[in-house]
Amino acid sequence: MPGRHFLFVPGPTNVPERVLRAMHRPMEDHRSSAFPELATSLLRDLKKVFKTTTGQPFIFPATGTGGWEAALVNTLSPGDRVIAARYGQFSHLWIDLAQRHGLRVDILDVEWGEGAPVDRIEDILTRDKQHEIKGVLIVHNETATGVTSDIAAVRRVIDAAGHPALLYVDGVSSIGSVDFRMDEWRVDLAITGSQKGLMLPAGLGIVCASPAALAARERAKCPRVFFDFGDMIKANASGYFPYTPALALLYGLRESLDIIFEEGLDNVFARHRRLAQGVRAAVRAWGLKLCAREPKWHSDTVSAIMVAEGFNGADVIDVAFRRYNLALGAGLGRLAGKLFRIGHVGDLNELMLLGAIAGAEMAMRDVGIKIAAGSGVAAAAEHYRSTAEPLPARAAAPPSPDAPQPPSGATKTVGPPAAVRT
Ligand code: PLP
Repeated sequence: MPGRHFLFVPGPTNVPERVLRAMHRPMEDHRSSAFPELATSLLRDLKKVFKTTTGQPFIFPATGTGGWEAALVNTLSPGDRVIAARYGQFSHLWIDLAQRHGLRVDILDVEWGEGAPVDRIEDILTRDKQHEIKGVLIVHNETATGVTSDIAAVRRVIDAAGHPALLYVDGVSSIGSVDFRMDEWRVDLAITGSQKGLMLPAGLGIVCASPAALAARERAKCPRVFFDFGDMIKANASGYFPYTPALALLYGLRESLDIIFEEGLDNVFARHRRLAQGVRAAVRAWGLKLCAREPKWHSDTVSAIMVAEGFNGADVIDVAFRRYNLALGAGLGRLAGKLFRIGHVGDLNELMLLGAIAGAEMAMRDVGIKIAAGSGVAAAAEHYRSTAEPLPARAAAPPSPDAPQPPSGATKTVGPPAAVRT
């Protein structure tokens, strides 16, 4: 198909040209004396993205799922009891992984469309007088439902219960795009992947561990080899990895971190919020509902949009892909067919997103969903116009050589044409 493909799944996200160019390089010796400069700078700068000074980042050639596994097996033993809230496909899959490692998981089932049930977490922890529970597992941004949970509130209830359980947070679709404060919220294990807010291809599973998590490592008996923090700690200390690192991705990560810091991390969060608000304005204008049940759960990286009764979200996605070259996210697990998702995470701006909203709108009309043509696009565009930063005054342009010349003998004026000067 001619023109650009519109990639609007919530990961993998669009990879900026700068990152693509940074990765496009010959391979090199990862044991050379030059290599540690790259690795050390990445391990240092990742801390800024996690907002931690005391945490230790680990970069695995893996994905978010590998990050889940690394966080658990390095800090827990088979038979350990943990609690985990389940409110979407990703929290479900993390629980499955924990169970397959022999952990005993108390599952807190929540309606899909809501987030972490802090009162129930407090209640369970308060009743656990023996401190048998070793960990609390929370997905910060449930990508399947477009729900963001309040991690600060989870930390408050753990503290209120006076409980020493470690706090494990999946930030795969939040870290680097939604405010995340590892130190302030005292998150013990924060997990992300490369293919969302970090704007890279999939292939890195990144985990940041607090001092308490590193201490738990000494007691943890879950078998681990590839994901062993211990091997990483030894090799990373001198700027190397215990096995061949994903070199191209590491160079890409260097560039993506530079891009994020140039924009400013907090500006990145604000951009994601404003772009997401435009999508939500479109959804309201269509007369449709988000899967997220209340504004407090709204995700700034993905909107899961329920399709009207009698329609299949998969049909919308299929038409958008085949007719308009637009990739939208599918409904996952028990939400299959009930919704489609617009990912608004990573390297994107207003007009890119308006393209996705237009494509979703056209595809919905094509499959027969009754929405007014242009309604979502208009609502989002007006949101972006009305919330745009005021433009700084433009410096006077130098006179154009093509501007009409004054008749010979007249005094020559400098500056913009009269019409522009008024
Ligand atoms: N957690 C969340 C919130 C996700 O969105 C995903 C993937 O989309 C994962 C975990 C799993 O990550 P991966 O597919 O990189 O293994």
